[in-house]
Amino acid sequence: MKRVLTTCPYCGTGCMFYLVVDDDNKLIGVEASTEHVVAQGKLCVKGWNAHHFVNHPDRLTQPMVRRNGKMEPASWDEALDLVVGKLKEIQAEHGNDSVAFFSSAKTTNEENYLMMKLARAVFKTNNVDHCARLCHSSTVLGLAATFGSGAMTNSISCMEQADCILVTGSNTTEQHPLIGSRIVRNVLENGAKLIVADNRKIRLARIADIHVRWKNGTDVAFLNGLMNVIIAEGLEDKEFVASRTENYEELKKVVADYRPERAAEICGITPEEIVQVARMFARAKRAMIVYSMGITQHTHGVDNVKSCANLAMLTGNVGRPGTGVNPLRGQNNVQGACDMGALNGVYSGYQKVIDPVAREKFEKAWSVENLPDKPGLTVTTAIDAAADGKLKALYIMGENPMLSDPDQNHVRKALEKLDFLVVQDIFPTPTSEYADVILPAASYAEKNGTFTSTERRVQHVRKAIEPIGRSRADWEILCDVAARAGYAGMKYNSASEIMDEVASVTPIYGGVSFERIDQVGLQWPCTDKEHPGTPVLHSGKFARGLGAFSPAAYRPSAELPDEEYPFVLSTGRCYFHFHTGTMTRRSQLLHREERFPYVEINPKDARELEIHDRRWVHVTTRRGTVRAMARVTDVADRGVLFMPFHFEEGPANLLTNNALDPVAKIPEYKICAARVRSC
Ligand code: SF4
Repeated sequence: MKRVLTTCPYCGTGCMFYLVVDDDNKLIGVEASTEHVVAQGKLCVKGWNAHHFVNHPDRLTQPMVRRNGKMEPASWDEALDLVVGKLKEIQAEHGNDSVAFFSSAKTTNEENYLMMKLARAVFKTNNVDHCARLCHSSTVLGLAATFGSGAMTNSISCMEQADCILVTGSNTTEQHPLIGSRIVRNVLENGAKLIVADNRKIRLARIADIHVRWKNGTDVAFLNGLMNVIIAEGLEDKEFVASRTENYEELKKVVADYRPERAAEICGITPEEIVQVARMFARAKRAMIVYSMGITQHTHGVDNVKSCANLAMLTGNVGRPGTGVNPLRGQNNVQGACDMGALNGVYSGYQKVIDPVAREKFEKAWSVENLPDKPGLTVTTAIDAAADGKLKALYIMGENPMLSDPDQNHVRKALEKLDFLVVQDIFPTPTSEYADVILPAASYAEKNGTFTSTERRVQHVRKAIEPIGRSRADWEILCDVAARAGYAGMKYNSASEIMDEVASVTPIYGGVSFERIDQVGLQWPCTDKEHPGTPVLHSGKFARGLGAFSPAAYRPSAELPDEEYPFVLSTGRCYFHFHTGTMTRRSQLLHREERFPYVEINPKDARELEIHDRRWVHVTTRRGTVRAMARVTDVADRGVLFMPFHFEEGPANLLTNNALDPVAKIPEYKICAARVRSC
């Protein structure tokens, strides 16, 4: 047997572990790494089971093409020639921007870099994006505007150094279990104060000093209320505000309207709760904010993020260990996919496509001319463009918009309307049912590369076994597509060579190489070969110079409950499953633990509606109806329903609203109006 050190393919915590392989090239287990700085010999249930899906019989093992309406096996040559021929043909008829590319937070940095290079250098379009649009695009824009860098400011180890932690919109113990366990340890062993601001009674709420159960979507009013109290009571960090920030007067003006009484009324809590939280947070020596998609997935997601940043700057809690604004990234490599420029408006390292200097730099590096100069379509606007008939072809690598995007019927119509759809994945998905070509990809266990975790740590993904069937690593497929399209600039012998190119054009990855990240990785910015990496951002100086207060006024969510739809429906993940369930639902143990789509409902609401625990109900919104099993629990507040979105047979995203944040274009997954009935 051999043991291969690699990185977990699930959440953004980035635990490294050993894959154990037997003599028959079969993965037989996972072993925790006691040396790894984050894992420290532990894993969560998903990590322990991360080998199960790899050999599942459902794996895609050969290319498929649609002939006479039916998907049939094909050779790689036939499939790839068809892909390149059709994309070129469609572009010749409808223009370069009639095709779009969805990259993937599940694939490696090298593959994301190549996908954006393929879109931009070969097919000359900026229509390239990925699912960060659906989870953390608000973070990227909100923190870039306030701090100059849209990433987690601190390290996971800082969770144990804070004196006070405000967790909001993050069910940390379930979604990022090894980060959650550090918070628990700090609270129980070191006596750190814990404030949980969340409508659900999540596990962390049970050990919190204060659990604020605000109305969903009132985040900005709550955070402005805190800042109002802090300024009124003189608890702000005057020295930090004076020396490190700008636009303070504007912040003061905006938050002046959010006296505790008014903020509390909007949030459905008491003024005392706001005062208590404000004092606890502002008086701590080292206070940190931890958030996740409960903050970002709103039509006011960017405002929510900016308000978190405002609170951290106001109290001087940026740039030191145990402080900061810490967005926890959902998927294994969503940070890296953003860093690599798999976004519609930036190259790797967030260098803007509208900047002529950046364009010239990439034209030179890639030996091409006339790179497109306007931001392209996002994941969400590309689906709209397809539904409108403006987008004709889509190349999707490792994403499943049929389950992950809001308003499933809208997505279905959009995919049906396309002239040509390519899906490159490891398993068949509800999205691949609409494909004209399916390209079988190798899983994380069958290739080399890197993932970048939520704490900006670039780490190895190592090949443990040979690719299953005729599947190939995503990066090899992309290189083959580029070569067939006549481009000579995407020829690499290894993933390591691709990272060397990334480092040469991406200042924040300038010192990253496969040799240097050997055992524990490197945290960016890492600008040259001697740079040790950066555990804490913005020490002494913000990435943009001065931190910019960016105050926001409270705006209600797009669709609120009414007589017909009296509940708020919120969506998210559960402990045992990951994203659209493609991998975890093919993992025996994880599937056994959580087999059915479910909806959480408060016991009092259940009693009134005569809904019983573990009985089937219909959940209905303006977009449709889904059957799910009732879970009667006080985790759900009165008037609120919660559904995970992993289940194909009970797709929560058939129900969600596709209203977007005007800046980040992120959909409002966390709030829509719904009703529920026994069935
Ligand atoms: Fe994997 Fe996240 Fe669990 Fe760590 S906490 S083992 S990275 S799923």
